[in-house]
Amino acid sequence: MESCKPGSIADLATLANLDGKVLLNELKVRYQENNIYTYVGDILVAINPFRPLHIYGDEETQKYYLEKKSANPPHIFAIADAAYQCMLGYGGRIPQNQCVLISGESGAGKTESTKLIIKQLIELCRGNTQLEQQILQVNPLLEAFGNARTTMNDNSSRFGKYIQLIFRGEHVDGAKISEYLLEKSRVVHQNRGEENFHIFYYMFGGLSAEQKKSFNLLPAGQQRYLTNGADCLRAEPTFFKKQYEELVNAMDLVGFTDEEEDNLFAIIASVLHLGNVTFNMDDNDASFVEDENGPVKMAARVLGVSGEELVGTLTNMVTFTRGEQIKRHYTKAMAEDARDAVSKALYGRLFGWIVNKINQLLAPKEQSSGEARQIGILDIFGFEHFEKNSFEQACINLANEQLQFFFNQHVFKMEQEEYVKEGIDWKEIKFVDNQPLLNLFLNKPIGILSLLDEETHFPKGTDQSLVEKLNTHFARNDNYGKSAQSKSSKFTINHYAGKVTYDATRWLDKNRDSLPPGVTEMLQSSSNALVKLIFRGQITRTGTLALQARKSSRTTRRSKRPPAAGSNDGGRKRKQTVGGQFKNSLGILMERMMSSSPIFVRCLKPNHIKVPGKFDEKYINDQLLYTGMLETIKIRREGFAVRPSFAEFVEKYKIIVCEAALPGTKENCLKILKASKITGWQIGKTKVFMKYYHLDQLSDVFQRM
Ligand code: ATP
Ligand code: MG
Repeated sequence: MESCKPGSIADLATLANLDGKVLLNELKVRYQENNIYTYVGDILVAINPFRPLHIYGDEETQKYYLEKKSANPPHIFAIADAAYQCMLGYGGRIPQNQCVLISGESGAGKTESTKLIIKQLIELCRGNTQLEQQILQVNPLLEAFGNARTTMNDNSSRFGKYIQLIFRGEHVDGAKISEYLLEKSRVVHQNRGEENFHIFYYMFGGLSAEQKKSFNLLPAGQQRYLTNGADCLRAEPTFFKKQYEELVNAMDLVGFTDEEEDNLFAIIASVLHLGNVTFNMDDNDASFVEDENGPVKMAARVLGVSGEELVGTLTNMVTFTRGEQIKRHYTKAMAEDARDAVSKALYGRLFGWIVNKINQLLAPKEQSSGEARQIGILDIFGFEHFEKNSFEQACINLANEQLQFFFNQHVFKMEQEEYVKEGIDWKEIKFVDNQPLLNLFLNKPIGILSLLDEETHFPKGTDQSLVEKLNTHFARNDNYGKSAQSKSSKFTINHYAGKVTYDATRWLDKNRDSLPPGVTEMLQSSSNALVKLIFRGQITRTGTLALQARKSSRTTRRSKRPPAAGSNDGGRKRKQTVGGQFKNSLGILMERMMSSSPIFVRCLKPNHIKVPGKFDEKYINDQLLYTGMLETIKIRREGFAVRPSFAEFVEKYKIIVCEAALPGTKENCLKILKASKITGWQIGKTKVFMKYYHLDQLSDVFQRM
């Protein structure tokens, strides 16, 4: 065990006496010396520096190239290196799929870490192929459409993603992205001080005057969807232009065609036009479009549909009763909702299409030989707690609960259960189990999401009746708090990362996410090939875009297996709800993670104000507490992170006793362990229990032979 001056310890699991105060001080001193990375055993802790550090260049790339972890200071590149080596089974390991799970609050540095890991992985496999260059462009491309400036983070991910890099042997052979729940509502509304998705601003910075003219675009300051959150737009035309150029470059490299790019920008422009459509009501409360020759006409033109038809679908609904056509006019509020629903659907489906297109372009080659292995990297939206929290925040925070749960399962629960089962000498380490919180959200039939679905399908259900049901069912649940005011639309959840008060206003609508009648049919007849495609195609779980024949909108089509997040089945009755879809895709994600060997990166945010050099002790301490960092350190110090079976162990290390054919028995394991002279291991009924650092020590023994 080390005991040196504060800040000099690269791995906190080697400290014999560690309490909260020592831990905080260690991290603080390291941070002040620009050491943003620290290990806790095999887990990497990263504190956002909020300034560019020159530690990601060629020199570091070389340093963390097929090295032992202990050979260099802690670094995000070492995580990439470890994942790569573990996947391939280097250094006496068993080859296995890997997943890197990156957690932390919004703005803590997850997306930056993801990009750095991918960069280093590409360096490690060094085929210098076109595919590698394409993979490097995926993140900037997705960020343009899926990230936005929020109060917490200037480049906040408004969707979750799991990127799988697929390898054949040492070389990358393809990539696949799964996306989770894009925050579509941002297209039509932003909270104070926040922005719409980056792409809107990049477009104004980068499109040529002719292009803008061809889309009939008014200046950015006159776009309602861009000005409802901020008092004025960020005036950074040069920056936006540069970002636009980088984006187009990335799209070209990944393989989008010029026509696809044109169509794509046309859709973005049409969304902006739709945003400027305003309505009024006549004496009978029937809505009408205020200026039929204004934005609605532009939107129709750019979308490639008839102006009259668009006006019609936004302001009234046509139904047929016994062969008779009945027109029902919308109120002004309904027409505004219809308009916003169309905008959200256009943007959401466009995003889904972009992800699918990337997946098609980067798909592994079918004729490749050899066994495929993969490294997955999970970068979700961080835990959020705003002044106003809605359905989107509830889903985001649920995803974070699920990730914390997975961490607990892996680091505390499964590990300690195994110790007991294998009968090794062990004193239990307690941790805060957030299973009750997951149950609160996910239980059937009495969980928040199930109750929400029930209200959503119930003809008389309202946001208010939902809150009343929640209040009744969870009256005695410690993690649920009803509002002190009666008839309030608010309730509070005691998340692992703190209390969040949600407002259920519009939850039913958001969960339903339906399109006004007639919209799908109208867009399917568009002369813009991309509009037509995204409203006709059904995105399947395998990530391919399967075209299907137009079906009557009355047909209900349900498959046993739910579609992955991001898919949508276009306005059919009783389609899956947003909450239901999200729950399913989280389930699929957990299954994937359970079947690989996880590597954890814990990002910490040093202050609320996004500035360099400021280490807010209380804020960091809160994050350390709710992530269970002290307990994690304890289990990594005292526990056994590496647990090969007798057979696996003998197979890998028999060379230490210079024997080629050795049966995988307990006795032979003991023989090898003694010969290797490492200490601190234990032997169970079927497995060898080793500390994470034993792997490095054994590979030292290996190399000396
Ligand atoms: P969200 O949940 O909102 O998506 P996040 O955890 O993905 O948040 P990032 O977008 O990765 O957060 O980081 C926020 C900002 O912090 C970055 O835009 C960058 O300015 C800064 N940052 C993060 N990590 C680093 C780093 N390693 N070096 C320099 N700056 C960093
Ligand atoms: Mg992010």
